Amino acid sequence: MEIIEDYKNLFSTIRDAILVVDIERKIKDCNPAFTSMFGYTLEEIKGKSAGIFYENEKVYDEIGRKINENRQEEKSFIYTLNYKRKNGEVFTGEVNIFFIKDAQEKKGGVMGLIRDISERKKAEELLLENAIQFNILKNTSIDGFWLVNKSGQFLDVNSAYCRMTGYSKDELKKMIIPDLEAVEPPEITRRHIQKIIETGSDRFESIHRCKDGRHINVEISVTYIKHSGKMMCFIHDITKRKKADAILRQKTEELIRSNKELEQFAYISSHDLQEPLRTVSNFVGLLNSNYKGRLDNEADEYIEYIERATKRMQKLIKDVMDYLIIGRKKDVSPVNCNEILQEVLDELASSVRNSNAVIHSGPLPVISVHPELKSVFFNLLSNALKFRKKDNSPLVINFSVRDIGKEWLFAIKDNGIGIDRKYHERIFLIFQRLHKHEDYPGTGIGLAHSKKIIEMHGGKIRVESEPGQGSTFYFTVPKQETNQL
Ligand code: ADP
Repeated sequence: MEIIEDYKNLFSTIRDAILVVDIERKIKDCNPAFTSMFGYTLEEIKGKSAGIFYENEKVYDEIGRKINENRQEEKSFIYTLNYKRKNGEVFTGEVNIFFIKDAQEKKGGVMGLIRDISERKKAEELLLENAIQFNILKNTSIDGFWLVNKSGQFLDVNSAYCRMTGYSKDELKKMIIPDLEAVEPPEITRRHIQKIIETGSDRFESIHRCKDGRHINVEISVTYIKHSGKMMCFIHDITKRKKADAILRQKTEELIRSNKELEQFAYISSHDLQEPLRTVSNFVGLLNSNYKGRLDNEADEYIEYIERATKRMQKLIKDVMDYLIIGRKKDVSPVNCNEILQEVLDELASSVRNSNAVIHSGPLPVISVHPELKSVFFNLLSNALKFRKKDNSPLVINFSVRDIGKEWLFAIKDNGIGIDRKYHERIFLIFQRLHKHEDYPGTGIGLAHSKKIIEMHGGKIRVESEPGQGSTFYFTVPKQETNQL
């Protein structure tokens, strides 16, 4: 009796749904798990055909056939099929069918233990889909792929890696990673593998030896799959990139060297030119003081021309030499921009007075820069004063700075003659001027000089301007974290 009680308990508490049918597959009983899985009460279904629970008649017939096949031997079996709930919803179930004897009718019925496996099915399908997608990815990728074990043995490789190295899949499957490593000694590779097992993943560059002895540069991304103890690696061929990098580095070095040589040459030539020029200047000075008024007027005029041209040439040479030596020392130090602006304005005091200019500026920051930044302030402000309109309209200059995150943005705005759009780039080249010396004096070096200083700081300089509408020169200065540029 107790055993029967135990069975009854099991019947009503088990999580699998149980359905009992007679030999004609008429419903005799079901447990609570069944009623909640299918949505029917026992009263609703008792005596009815079990056909109502199947997705369609075909499934019903099929399971009937299966039952008949096994009835003779009363062998239980498992079957996967689609069931239908009362609300019409179809789900995948796994049924374990047992043959039972009916004590009174002496006819055999069956008992089905049904489990809803739709979630498991979905997960299996997803897994399959992922595996298919992964296979497609592996086989169509232009990057190489390996699956290796902890000893670095190849378990799987894709065709892309075979193409890269010239080895066949079978050949590679007999090899281990150190057989391909061109520079790393096997001991280091083994230690590297150990480290990846500990950390889970890595990305690094290496050099592989191909079958024909060629070396290729590769970038490898590895993921360690803990539960299977295998490593999944994607290998990207970076040989071309490495070659291009090397050429670029070599060309850059050559360029720097030839630039230095050129600067050296220009500096020495300018320096050497100063000497004869000084002699010319001294003798013209002597001519002027000793012979002025003693020759005729024309001679006086010629002496004056030579004197002016000599002074201009001296200024040009000095500017060129200054330009060439900018940035030889790359030290930066904190500079109070208010102070350097004031110093520049003091130096330009007479031009400010002569032009009746009004100069506005807000509070400026203290920034870490090369002391040469002062000459940028000087060049831009002296240009703003120089290139003013000749109609005596009031000259207004605005000097401002904005914090734009990683940089300071300076702006020097004037309401002077302005610059045609087509010259906005050209004016930053050395000796490029848009006016005759008689109209607006200058050497055409100031903006090139300023550009060199700003770029030395890693900043940029540009102008926005229209003829007759004034100009605004903008430049940026990155916020420095070190004392060296
Ligand atoms: P320089 O002032 O000695 O001529 P720069 O290199 O400083 O040389 O300037 C190059 C040219 O750019 C100037 O000759 C001038 O034509 C133009 N320029 C520079 N600043 C201004 C300005 N604020 N307004 C109008 N034109 C300017």
